[in-house]
Amino acid sequence: MTDHLDLREEMIAICLRMNASGLNTGAAGNLSVRVEGGLLITPSGVAYDKMRPEQIVEMDWEGRYYGDFVPSSEWRFHYDILKARPDVDAVLHSHAINCSILACCRLDIPPVHYMIGVSGGDVVKCSAYAPFGTAELSVEALSALEDRMACLLGNHGVIALGKTPAKAFAVLEEVENLARVYIGTRMLGGGVILGKEEMDVVLERFKSYGKQAGEAVDATVKNRVEPPPHGGPKRL
Ligand code: 13P
Ligand code: ZN
Repeated sequence: MTDHLDLREEMIAICLRMNASGLNTGAAGNLSVRVEGGLLITPSGVAYDKMRPEQIVEMDWEGRYYGDFVPSSEWRFHYDILKARPDVDAVLHSHAINCSILACCRLDIPPVHYMIGVSGGDVVKCSAYAPFGTAELSVEALSALEDRMACLLGNHGVIALGKTPAKAFAVLEEVENLARVYIGTRMLGGGVILGKEEMDVVLERFKSYGKQAGEAVDATVKNRVEPPPHGGPKRL
């Protein structure tokens, strides 16, 4: 019997969606999710369309893996990030093309579009280069991810974090979009980069963004997103 079967299936579905959406190619990329006592992580070098739930590898907090399949070669940064960041439960890595182009130029993504706020700050940092699968890469990744939900990996790709695999996927999708916008603006001679004050307002507004009808919005949040007055339940 395979434990966490639903979660394992969800992990494969997210990886397949990542490739189908053009956010990764082939067997590159990997995904981990926190579970009780450790983490689940995709196996190394297995094509997502051939991946079966039982091939997803379990690791404990002593850094040991269990079963017949070897965990992703990037297990170190998955393990280190989940250990260091109790605010996230899913780590998604890909070689998304526009993120990779910027990473190969060792460029951070600046606040050229306000949606950079989904990364938790006003810049998506690009880490220094370190070979794939090394402890050195993990150190660089953790540093570029400080207080952020995403980073680029120098000459490599991108990491996106979330509370769930789906949320990490949404961050990845957005960061790849931002990378594309940034490359486009550079090709047109350079976009207008938002300033600190402008981004402070955006980051404040994100705190009250995406609420449902009637859900309390913290009135102490400055610059909060204000819906029109609520008229009650659906009329028709
Ligand atoms: P794995 O197949 O070992 O997960 O490696 C893919 C990758 O992207 C390495 O950085
Ligand atoms: Zn990689």
